[in-house]
Amino acid sequence: MQALEDDLDDGDAPHMSLSLQTCQQMDLQDPLRPLRDLFDLPPGMIYLDGNSLGALPRATAARLQAVIQHEWGVGLIRSYNTAQWFDQPHILGDRLAPWLGAGAGEVLVTDTTSVNLFKVLSVAMAMAAQNSPGQRVLLSEVGNFPTDLYMAESVCAQHGWQLRCVQAAELDAHLSDEVGVLMLTHVNYRTGALWDMGHWSAKAHAVGAMAVWDLAHSAGAVPLALKADGADFAVGCGYKYLNGGPGAPAFVWAHPDHVHHAKQPLTGWWGHAQPFAFTPSYEPATGMGRFLCGSQSVLAMAALACGLDTFERSLPLGGMSALRQKSLALTDAFIGLVQTHCAGHGLVLETPLNPQQRGSQVSLSTQAGAYAMVQALIERGVVGDFRAGDPGRSEPDIMRFGFTPLYLGFEDVWRAVDHLRQVLDAGIWRAPRFAIPHPVT
Ligand SMILES: *Cc1c(COP(=O)(O)O)cnc(C)c1O
Repeated sequence: MQALEDDLDDGDAPHMSLSLQTCQQMDLQDPLRPLRDLFDLPPGMIYLDGNSLGALPRATAARLQAVIQHEWGVGLIRSYNTAQWFDQPHILGDRLAPWLGAGAGEVLVTDTTSVNLFKVLSVAMAMAAQNSPGQRVLLSEVGNFPTDLYMAESVCAQHGWQLRCVQAAELDAHLSDEVGVLMLTHVNYRTGALWDMGHWSAKAHAVGAMAVWDLAHSAGAVPLALKADGADFAVGCGYKYLNGGPGAPAFVWAHPDHVHHAKQPLTGWWGHAQPFAFTPSYEPATGMGRFLCGSQSVLAMAALACGLDTFERSLPLGGMSALRQKSLALTDAFIGLVQTHCAGHGLVLETPLNPQQRGSQVSLSTQAGAYAMVQALIERGVVGDFRAGDPGRSEPDIMRFGFTPLYLGFEDVWRAVDHLRQVLDAGIWRAPRFAIPHPVT
C-alpha cells in the first residue's frame, strides 16, 4: 500500500501528470482509437467499470434481434444444426483460445465462472489424490474473490480436504508438500495486483501440486500464456473485459494432457460422448465437451460472440500487446493525475505501481467515504465501483476504476480525475444522498 502523498513527498513519483491538451494529443495519436466506435456508450459518460460489466458493443442488439427472429423464429429446432447452436461452446472457445495462450479445442464457453470452478477443482483434486495422495490441502489467497473461496470450501468438504487461505505475501511459505492444489485469481479483483502465472505454476508443480487459475479479471485485459506458463486448469468470465453482456457465459480451459483424465462431476447430457444416442448411462465426450453440463443459453452466447468480435477488430492494430500497452498507459496516466490533483485527501493507492504487477484497474482506498465518493462520481457520469473492506478493517474500503483500452481514451482519464478532484476538494461526497446504500455496488 502506498500513500499517494508519500509518493509526492519522496520526490520520486514515477508517474507524470499529464495536461488535458497532452491527453487529447495522445488520443489523436492512439492507433486503437477507432475501436471506441464499436461500442454504444451513453453520451458524456466515462465508463470505468468494464472490469465489472463490459460495455455494450454496437452490433449486439441487431445480432440478437436476428438470432431471435430468424434463427429461433424461423429456424426453430433446426437452428441447432443450421445455425451451429449446438457447437457454439466450442466455436466461441476456439475464438477465445488465442487470447488465453491456449490452442484450438482447449477452451469451452459455458455456464458461470463459479460452476466451472466447481468442475475444475473437483477434477484437480481427484488428479492430485492419484498423483500425490498425502497432499490434501487446497491453498489460496485470503483476498481471493469470495465465490472462488466459497466453491473451494464446498469441494474441499466433499473430498475431505482442507482449504487454507493465506495473505498473498505468505503464499510462498505455505506452498508446502501438504498442498495438492494451488488456486489463484490471476488479477486480484480488489487491488488489481497481478500474480506471475509462470512463476507460481512452477512453484506449485515443484511441490507436486496442481495450479488452477481464475482469469475473471485477466481475459481480454492482460496477455495470457496458459500453456507456456504451465497452468493446469483455468476458468474465467465473459461479462467483464470480454463485453459479453450481463450474465454472459463463462469459460473453462484444461491443459490438453489432463482432458482425458478429467471426470468432472456435473455429468449432464451435453457432456456425454453422444448426447443424442440417449443411452441410459453416462460416458464423457472425448475432448473439452465433457466440461459441458446441460443446454446453453443461445442468446447469451450470441451476445458474447459480439464481444469477441470487438477484440478481433483489434488484431490488425496490434491485438493484445497493443491493448496491454494502452491499458498500462491509461492506468499510469490515472495514477499520475490522482497523485498530482487529489493529494491531501488521504487516498491510498492499493494497486501496484510496478506495471508488470498490475492488471487493467486502479484501486484507491480511503479511511472514510469511499462509497459516497463513488456515488458522487457516478452522478457526474464517471462510473467506477465500490468494494467494502472487512469489518475488522484489515482491508479498507476501496474505489475501483477499470480501464478498458478498447473504448477509453486519455481525455476520459483526465476528466475522470478532474471530477474526483472536485468531489474531494469541495467535499461534494459528504451530501447525504451519496450515503444511501444500493444492493449492487
Ligand atoms: C467476477 C468474478 C467471478 C464471477 O463468477 P460468476 O459465477 O460468473 O458470477 C468469479 N471469480 C472472480 C475472481 C471474479 O472476479
